[in-house]
Amino acid sequence: LKGGMQQWPLTTGALIDHAARQHGATEVVSRAADGGVVRSHWAGIAANARAAAAGLAMLGAERGDRVATLAWNRAAHLELYYAISAGGMVLHTVNPRLHADQVRYVTAHGGARILCVDPDLLPIVTPILPLLPEVHTVVVLGDIPADQPGGVRYLSYADLLGLAPPLAEWPVLDENDAASLCYTSGTTGDPKGCLYSHRSILLHAFGICAADSMALSACDTVLLLPPMFHVNSWGVPFGAAMCGAKLVLPGNQLDGASLLALLRDERVTFSLGVPTVWFMLLDHIAANADPEARAALRLDRVFTGGASTPRALVQRFRDLLGVETMQAWGMTETSPVAAVCRPLGCQRDLPPEEALDLRAKAGRGVFGVELRVEDEDGRGLPVGDAATGALKVRGHWVIDRYFGAAADAVDADGWFDTGDVGRIDARGFLQITDRSKDVIKSGGEWISSIELENAAAAHPAVAEAAVVGVAHPSWQERPLLLVRLHPDVAFDAGDMRAHLLQHVARWWLPDDIVVVDDLPHTASGKVVKAALRERYRDHLSS
Ligand code: ADP
Repeated sequence: LKGGMQQWPLTTGALIDHAARQHGATEVVSRAADGGVVRSHWAGIAANARAAAAGLAMLGAERGDRVATLAWNRAAHLELYYAISAGGMVLHTVNPRLHADQVRYVTAHGGARILCVDPDLLPIVTPILPLLPEVHTVVVLGDIPADQPGGVRYLSYADLLGLAPPLAEWPVLDENDAASLCYTSGTTGDPKGCLYSHRSILLHAFGICAADSMALSACDTVLLLPPMFHVNSWGVPFGAAMCGAKLVLPGNQLDGASLLALLRDERVTFSLGVPTVWFMLLDHIAANADPEARAALRLDRVFTGGASTPRALVQRFRDLLGVETMQAWGMTETSPVAAVCRPLGCQRDLPPEEALDLRAKAGRGVFGVELRVEDEDGRGLPVGDAATGALKVRGHWVIDRYFGAAADAVDADGWFDTGDVGRIDARGFLQITDRSKDVIKSGGEWISSIELENAAAAHPAVAEAAVVGVAHPSWQERPLLLVRLHPDVAFDAGDMRAHLLQHVARWWLPDDIVVVDDLPHTASGKVVKAALRERYRDHLSS
């Protein structure tokens, strides 16, 4: 017996139509290249998206064609999110901070023939255009600089919007059609493409709006820090349209002063980002905003993810701003939000220290995603088990097959091996202890680089910490701790060892501690451990 309800395809066009209809006057604010703030609203975003979709069709874009963007978080990029996907094409967001070879690889692999590029990113794109013979048009999201090399057509975004009358209606699409294509950042290998469907994007949007996830609502003003070229900015450009939140897009100005100004002037209530960005911002706020200025901020909760959130970060948010931190776990292959850490009802009255411990965990699997931790023989470890194992996931917005791959990325039961190692406690809270490639194997035992890093990050002198395993003549590998210090603080390695001993077993103590000026980061703000392993390979054996 079939149900008697209407079958509406879950498509991104339905999202932007809803935002325009119900929240048309709600603002979308962007930081422009010149540092000024440009104001639009959901109705304006929707209108331009329809005009851009019509323009792209005039340029020859057809159903299923990939159209690539290399752009910062600004209104035009948001308009293209909808123009391309709701228009029946596939939004391919290319990460401009990748190495030039990888930008070329990812763009070529996606197969776009039209690229939409912010003017300041043209110097990345123009040198590789001769290697991308299929590209025929570059839409510049601003003024076209003089003297662009020939071979392709250059068109300004303003001209694209005027190329044809805006679409009166979005085309009717199948919800299982591809809507967007994002590549992993290649932290552990060549970037691989994840091809999200309209349906997976919509279901994920429902998921992040939920009260126990980001709890996005029409009362929120959201400062969107994850780049729109990284896992669709964690799905927020879609979730915000679903609930009608005001969006604040910081452009490429991610320094502490610019972000604090947006938090204050736009009365931001919610934001999300990776721990590195948060530490930088909190340092800036601590140094530049007096208690009165901090109290005036409207921020009441933040989402952290993309890398392990040290307990010290949760504490800093609480102590400095009185802000609640929710950690999330996910990856490009999971759209990305798969687990979120929010205390359960029975944990509401935990003592403050225990509440901090809890919020330093990666969280519980959200509806729509199943989590499983397996031992080396592929047997599921029971929840509450102290042992760690390989984390596998499956669900509505989890990858099935990488774009262009010949085989599925999952096993026969649909489980995707995340490459992460962790455990799940008796209440279902996931704790990531490492990436399988980062685990330190010391004399046959495993040492968690993440737990050591988080312990080091709690030391008052430390601005950022990274731990890698380096070769050791008798133990195979031993941990090496690298720390970047806060300016003008004294540091003593013996003091750090004593501090670490409060958190970890003695045999976990790093064999050496190196103070560095900086740590290498990926485009999305994660420490590049492969580079550190390479640089310090012989540190303990030479
Ligand atoms: P890449 O895989 O190229 O680094 P992703 O953004 O997809 O790009 O990264 C996903 C990875 O980030 C996860 O597999 C995990 O290792 C790490 N990660 C994400 N969230 C957390 C978290 N809350 N705790 C620990 N690690 C996390």
